[in-house]
Amino acid sequence: MTFKTLDSALLAGKRALVRVDFNVPMANGVVTDDTRLRAALPTIAKLRAGGAKVILLAHFDRPKGKRVPSMSLAPVVAPLAALIGAPVAFAEDCVGDTADAAVASMKGGDVLLLQNLRFHAGEEANDPAFAEALGRNGDLYVNDAFSAAHRAHASTEGLAHILPAYAGEAMRRELDALDAALGRPSKPVLGVVGGSKVSTKLDLLHNLILKLDVLAIGGGMANTFLFAQGWAVGASYCEPDLADTARGVMAFALKHKCELLLPIDVVVAERAAPGQAAFTRDLGEVDADERILDAGPRTVARLAAAMDGARTLIWNGPLGVFEIPPFDAATTAAARHAAALVKSGRLIAVAGGGDTVSALHHAGVANDFTFVSTAGGAFLEWMEGIPLPGVLALQVA
Ligand code: ADP
Ligand code: MG
Repeated sequence: MTFKTLDSALLAGKRALVRVDFNVPMANGVVTDDTRLRAALPTIAKLRAGGAKVILLAHFDRPKGKRVPSMSLAPVVAPLAALIGAPVAFAEDCVGDTADAAVASMKGGDVLLLQNLRFHAGEEANDPAFAEALGRNGDLYVNDAFSAAHRAHASTEGLAHILPAYAGEAMRRELDALDAALGRPSKPVLGVVGGSKVSTKLDLLHNLILKLDVLAIGGGMANTFLFAQGWAVGASYCEPDLADTARGVMAFALKHKCELLLPIDVVVAERAAPGQAAFTRDLGEVDADERILDAGPRTVARLAAAMDGARTLIWNGPLGVFEIPPFDAATTAAARHAAALVKSGRLIAVAGGGDTVSALHHAGVANDFTFVSTAGGAFLEWMEGIPLPGVLALQVA
């Protein structure tokens, strides 16, 4: 895939409509985590340095096409201005006279944030008239919100067909990282998929099997695979109805020459609660009242060896109930092993998924991976092999 980047854009005096993800955590009208604001800074800086007028488009929460005052983007203005080190103007509407007047008064290098796009039903409906109304205030369109790219909305897809469209700096970084992980990876490629459910990750497993040399399955979903192979899983989280499905995944992996690594030992306890007595068990030794809550040390050692033999790692889903120690042990050990390989230049490691990102922070290695995607749903759809409309729309024919 090829995209126009801001390196090739004429920026001086141009009105740049920039789609960002400012759907930030907020409590009582105060931004409590500015990660997403920071993510937009490289693009904003580049546009300002080139003399463009920076007009930021964003959604917040789910107002469902109505003006909901508690879902205003106004609380973002002050922390954003502090991060940029320059004033940020705000318009109470993203289209119409209010927006038009605010844009008309801008000078090169100015920054303006427009009110929540989703106050208008036309945004999520990808209504051409709404996209037109937004587009009237721009000379070029920049999409810097990979996390919203799985939605075909007016600001994530429609605008790309109206104005010359560019990938922003964060978008470009994310697309490059994902391409290095699954698009044109250095082989062998190892995947790690964990988390709770097989049911939500079936499409992802099938797509990965087509692209990976080795796939390690952990977490609650591994219990369903072990159950499908006839092992006792006691009182573990398990989806017995999906035993056939799990056997189908194993057959699919065999057919496509993707080696599957299932746990060879497990850590059990009677409950997933702090301070529980935990025991390592071989397969077949899990008692009826025990729950499998983590992978065992031999499983971790074998996964570490698989990492040693891989050039690329793609990871989604924790290997155990990492929120409750000691059931974080396998996830933390595996994450640290991967991080050490990245540091020594022997592995490209890309990870994503809400709980996976938390688990990597918990292990203290989130910054040591090659790339960690915070894009949530967009990341998972990309792992499923689904073309993302917001990315497709940026593609140069
Ligand atoms: P992500 O958000 O990264 O995509 P998931 O939401 O699929 O990951 O899975 C994360 C959840 O899986 C965590 O809450 C974790 O506690 C749970 N989990 C992992 N292993 C087990 C297990 N053996 N039994 C029950 N739940 C598990
Ligand atoms: Mg999750």
